[in-house]
Amino acid sequence: MYSHLHADQKLENFGRGKSYVDFAPDRVAMQDATAQMALLQFMSAGRPKVAVPSTVHCDHLITAKVGAADDLSFATTESKEVFDFLSSVSNKYGLGFWKPGAGIIHQVVLENYAFPGGMMIGTDSHTVNAGGLGMVAIGVGGADAVDLMAGMAWELKFPKLIGVKLTGKLNGWTSAKDVILKVAGILTVKGGTGAIVEYFGEGATSMSCTGKGTICNMGAEIGARLADKIKNHLTADPEVYQNPSKYFDQVIEIDLNTLEPHLNGPFTPDLATPISKMKEAALANGWPTKIEVGLIGSCTNSSYEDISRSVSLAKQVTSKGLKLKSQFTITPGSEQVRFTIERDGFLDVFDKIGATVFANACGPCIGMWARVGAEKAEKNTIVHSFNRNFAKRADGNPNTFAFVGSPEIVTAMAIAGDLSFNPLTDYLTNEQGQKVKLDPPTGSELPAKGFDVKDPGFQAPAKDLAPFAPWEKTDLKGLRLLIKAKGKCTTDHISMAGKWLKYRGHLDNISNNLLIGATNYFNEKVNSVKNGLTGEHDEVPKVQRSYKAKGIGSIVVGDENYGEGSSREHAAMEPRFLGVRAILVKSFARIHETNLKKQGMLALTFANKEDYNKILEDDRIDIVGLTTFAPEKPLTLVLNHIDGKKETITVNHTYNASQIEWFKAGSALNKMGTDDAKKKSTAKKKPTAKTVAKKIVKKAAPKKKVVAKKVVKKATKKTVKKVVKSAKKSAAKKKVAAKKKK
Ligand code: SF4
Repeated sequence: MYSHLHADQKLENFGRGKSYVDFAPDRVAMQDATAQMALLQFMSAGRPKVAVPSTVHCDHLITAKVGAADDLSFATTESKEVFDFLSSVSNKYGLGFWKPGAGIIHQVVLENYAFPGGMMIGTDSHTVNAGGLGMVAIGVGGADAVDLMAGMAWELKFPKLIGVKLTGKLNGWTSAKDVILKVAGILTVKGGTGAIVEYFGEGATSMSCTGKGTICNMGAEIGARLADKIKNHLTADPEVYQNPSKYFDQVIEIDLNTLEPHLNGPFTPDLATPISKMKEAALANGWPTKIEVGLIGSCTNSSYEDISRSVSLAKQVTSKGLKLKSQFTITPGSEQVRFTIERDGFLDVFDKIGATVFANACGPCIGMWARVGAEKAEKNTIVHSFNRNFAKRADGNPNTFAFVGSPEIVTAMAIAGDLSFNPLTDYLTNEQGQKVKLDPPTGSELPAKGFDVKDPGFQAPAKDLAPFAPWEKTDLKGLRLLIKAKGKCTTDHISMAGKWLKYRGHLDNISNNLLIGATNYFNEKVNSVKNGLTGEHDEVPKVQRSYKAKGIGSIVVGDENYGEGSSREHAAMEPRFLGVRAILVKSFARIHETNLKKQGMLALTFANKEDYNKILEDDRIDIVGLTTFAPEKPLTLVLNHIDGKKETITVNHTYNASQIEWFKAGSALNKMGTDDAKKKSTAKKKPTAKTVAKKIVKKAAPKKKVVAKKVVKKATKKTVKKVVKSAKKSAAKKKVAAKKKK
């Protein structure tokens, strides 16, 4: 917290739970439902870009009904307007945009943005999830997010500190989820409000990041809007942990060796019941014991570790001759998780037992579950691994009794279909009538083959395009030959259409198609040119990018009617963007030649077309005569061949005086920009209102002095007095002069 004080915040000994302090968090995350208002407010702030890294995540507006593909497709049509708005605003104001289906905000943040010692705020109460990686992550309202994005400080009452000492180690059926279910039972839904909850002790250091993420995520269920988890370098001094009650406002101790799995609920996440007591509690309270649906996943519990442990139980359905007694659904937290668990065969296992995989989104966790029959409002029980279970939250049915548990307990309960089942002690009867017992879950914290994803669903904000650099006022020396194109080289060869059309607004991306359709004279191959730096052949855009990276200019040589075809500016912008300095051809298509000129390129033609044959693959080429570049005055090219010989050829151009200025400025737009700037600075030198007023008053005849004074009034307040004074003087003089005349 102290390392994130705002620059203007005076350092002092802040009172926990008392002092209001200004902070400067590192980043902002917003989910689609809250981002709409936050971004509308931000737009009205008049800032050109967000002041801190910020992201938008489309996860709350996807209804779970049939399965991932259909549900996602329906949502992208149903909420198209919202998604389009968020996407375009993000693009404009510099926010990262996670598309529908990319995943749930907190899982995506944990995978991509959280880091130990960082501080972030998010417009969602479960932002605390990022505490899994030792980040102080805090859920806020949209207005707070706007302040930070607009570059203002973020104010917070300095938090209290609750310490949870974890002794022992998680084992068997118990998981990180049970730690927070237990803590929720102790602190209740308000007990952690305005506090950072720090977990320490051997149980904390041995826990996985995603387990810690689950604990932090559900920190919101104890009212904590702040949570911090420890990493080795974020621990307090040893004496703090030796005598925690002296330093923490409250200390809770939990022995993981003896911690039992819990199911919390119904209707509140702090009604904690150990699994061994659930049968008794259900009977005593009249909770329906038949479990209709088991749901795992959400941002709270869909890590690889969670899913792999559930899979170890799902596999036992087949191996022990069992049948799933409840419906069972999986909501992956992100596309990265979904892709990886599909690759590793987990989704197949779930599929075999009849489970449904929903889209990577909030779905049933936030009431976006089109559950068949929910409208009948029948009394029923569900178990899930989400974090909240308030009435109507999952399916809108006030009579759905929802219990929160770990993914492994939810899976076991869905297999049994009975709330009174205790998987630690009880047996099930399989399809053959045999008594079988589920083995405790096992899993892997991380995938052995690493995480993978094909399309994570991220849209980076558009980068501001820097103007092309102006001419360096010297001849161009040592240019590399990028390609000597053979035969037809149309704008389609230079900048292909098809799948590239979608990148027309993204110059860097579309430049990856530069000249990929042109035939290399030297090897007669398409999109294969020699890289002068390595001697290897590679794709044209890659070779040009390697020249650009080294600051080496290049030249493209072409045949007749180079650039014919569609009037495609990209065919001129791409080479310019990637550092090609000149296009030298036997002849140009007219529009392309103009496009090249406008982009500040040199569009040159061989004075003697036979000189095309003199250009060799390894040449370093100088363009001479640019310092006296003038209309109708040819330039000279020096071909420095690799064998040390030089040849000089003459090249023509059709630049008029204005077009030469485009080249010198770096592009026609640059020239326009400098002209505008000049006009403005000249305009500044125009007489000020004060001067104008003085002149008018001076010239005015005595009778017109009143009118003149009105004009004077328009001058700045500061100058009015002076001007009127001088006007009076002048008028008096004129009167004297007039009298004299008379
Ligand atoms: S999955 Fe649930 S808790 Fe997580 S962000 Fe979505 S609605 Fe919130």
